[in-house]
Amino acid sequence: MHFEESDEEKMFREAVREFAQKHVAPVWQDYDKNHEIPRDLIKKMADMQLWAPTVSEEYGGAGISMTMACIAAEELARADLSIALPVMYLVEASWAFIYDLYGTHESKSEILPRVTKGDLFFGIATTEPTGGSDLVNSTKTVIKPKGDGYVVNGEKVYISGIKETEKYGGVYWTLGKSDPKGDHKAFDAFILPLNMGDGLHPGITTTLFEDMGRMGVSTGGFNIENVEIPKHYLIGEHGKGFYHAMEGFSAARVLIGATCLGSAEGCFDIGVDYVKQRRQFNRPLAAFEGIQFEGGDSWMALQADRHLVYHAAWIMDQHYREKNPNYNKLDIARYTAAAKYKAPHDALDVITRAMTWHGAFGYTKECPLEAAYRGVRSYTVGAEGGAHIQKIVMAREIFGAENLPYRQEKQV
Ligand SMILES: Cc1cc2nc3c(=O)[nH]c(=O)nc-3n(C[C@H](O)[C@H](O)[C@H](O)COP(=O)(O)OP(=O)(O)OC[C@H]3O[C@@H](n4cnc5c(N)ncnc54)[C@H](O)[C@@H]3O)c2cc1C
Repeated sequence: MHFEESDEEKMFREAVREFAQKHVAPVWQDYDKNHEIPRDLIKKMADMQLWAPTVSEEYGGAGISMTMACIAAEELARADLSIALPVMYLVEASWAFIYDLYGTHESKSEILPRVTKGDLFFGIATTEPTGGSDLVNSTKTVIKPKGDGYVVNGEKVYISGIKETEKYGGVYWTLGKSDPKGDHKAFDAFILPLNMGDGLHPGITTTLFEDMGRMGVSTGGFNIENVEIPKHYLIGEHGKGFYHAMEGFSAARVLIGATCLGSAEGCFDIGVDYVKQRRQFNRPLAAFEGIQFEGGDSWMALQADRHLVYHAAWIMDQHYREKNPNYNKLDIARYTAAAKYKAPHDALDVITRAMTWHGAFGYTKECPLEAAYRGVRSYTVGAEGGAHIQKIVMAREIFGAENLPYRQEKQV
């Protein structure tokens, strides 16, 4: 066992921290109010090879490990407590990574260099009006062969990055069924070109939702009407889309853990500084045991989450990079689900304590902590899979797939 970052990882963390503290920390509260991350900030990140950095060098990425990708997510969220920029970062670092594994060379050559330059957003679209948890029964989007390619019809909702895609360009990793009545083997994953930089595709109409947090990145939805895509936009094998998407969720989930950890660490530091300075009853608040015990609770939670997140990232690296046969995709799913569940929930506790330490000021918009609270809450509500679903993923490994409730229903 080795609990220390390698020299390369330490240097990388240092470089990202310096960048994030210099370029992200001073502006995030502005984009939390203006609801748009400045384009030049994204371009600066791309110049540093920090945009979709997990993509291989062949397609313009830096080919970094999931551990390093998590380090970057953590440092970005320490700087942008609202987690808007880290959300955009992590969606690309996870889904473009899995696309790089299974996409065709032809489509990757066209799309990924533009993604890693920060010119095209690479999003994920699985959730539909009928639900996001039970994709097998909820997915109504249909992909059918037509000519040399496919035609797609359907609707996706609660999708991150819609406004940005409409304005600047973006493609989505999308899930559809080749047979509407089929099970998980009827899914295809494919690239849906919402806006290749020349305006919204004529078959796409979008809507926007107003979220409570992470205001710098938009959430919306889109209708897909007879959108034709070329054959090479299919991601992976026909009928394997569901499985590939599960790998994408795992990658996103570990990065979400790192993001929520980073935001909570940033808030914890602010809280500790505050209680050391703020005096009540003739002494600093930090001198009261009531505050100290809460500080210990927060610190413990952060350490536990740090281990969970980086262990899950390490397992992913063992599987994808080291080809270590001791770790398979089910291990990855279980550990990343744990990181996705625990880090956001603990982060909310840590942030809540730090807000409370600030008294009334902690409840104002002047105090940066409320934006962190609003942002992190998105990952306990549902983004990249609801909280209960993470427990179902873990339970599948604990009790066996045969005891999954939805399989039971089929049995009785
Ligand atoms: C801010 C934000 C951004 C998002 N961005 C994207 C995106 O970019 N792309 C995308 O595809 N989706 C996105 N989503 C959607 C997200 O993936 C879904 O919200 C999530 O999958 C849950 O789906 P749902 O909201 O339809 O809730 P439902 O599936 O209707 O579930 C409702 C509640 O019931 C719980 N539940 C479901 N099944 C069970 C069960 N068997 N046992 C116990 N509890 C259960 C769920 O955990 C949830 O709490 C985003 C969501 C948010 C909040």
